[in-house]
Amino acid sequence: MNTRITTPEQSIVYPYLPEGRSILQVSSEHPFMKLAREVAFEHKGSLTHTSGAVLVKDNTVIGTGSIGSGFHRTNGCARQDKHVPTGMAYELCLGCHPSNHSEQVALANAVINGHDPFQAEVYLWGHWWCCVACWSALEIADVRQVYTLENAHVFFEKSHPNNFLGRQEEVGN
Ligand SMILES: [Zn+2]
Ligand SMILES: [Zn+2]
Repeated sequence: MNTRITTPEQSIVYPYLPEGRSILQVSSEHPFMKLAREVAFEHKGSLTHTSGAVLVKDNTVIGTGSIGSGFHRTNGCARQDKHVPTGMAYELCLGCHPSNHSEQVALANAVINGHDPFQAEVYLWGHWWCCVACWSALEIADVRQVYTLENAHVFFEKSHPNNFLGRQEEVGN
């Protein structure tokens, strides 16, 4: 099994990254990344809004979450309908609101399940960076590392010509 961890090349410029923080990328074969992908598809509203987060502590999953907590599946997405660029106008859609982002849903899920996310790690499938609100929540919870999928900055970036948006089910199989 290939579970290598790679450090993204320095050319990756994140829309937001707190001082002193990094995002590492892991292969699609990594067991926790595989699980994050499963979580993303479990509750997907549409293929352009598919993300999942898995919180891991002491090699044990303590919480999982996907964007919108099912909101998009039943209500659709006003941001998507209006072609809002990534990271903007979250107020238009409750499902896209940062408190419903997969990172924060996973944090809440861990707490509900009686776990302390202190020094946990988070594995994200379906996006390549974390928004200001999610980084803030992760830092408050003292999550120690964020992992995304290898080449997430290509696969999940709307403006990248080689992205997989709309074809996510082909990624990581
Ligand atoms: Zn939405
Ligand atoms: Zn977020």
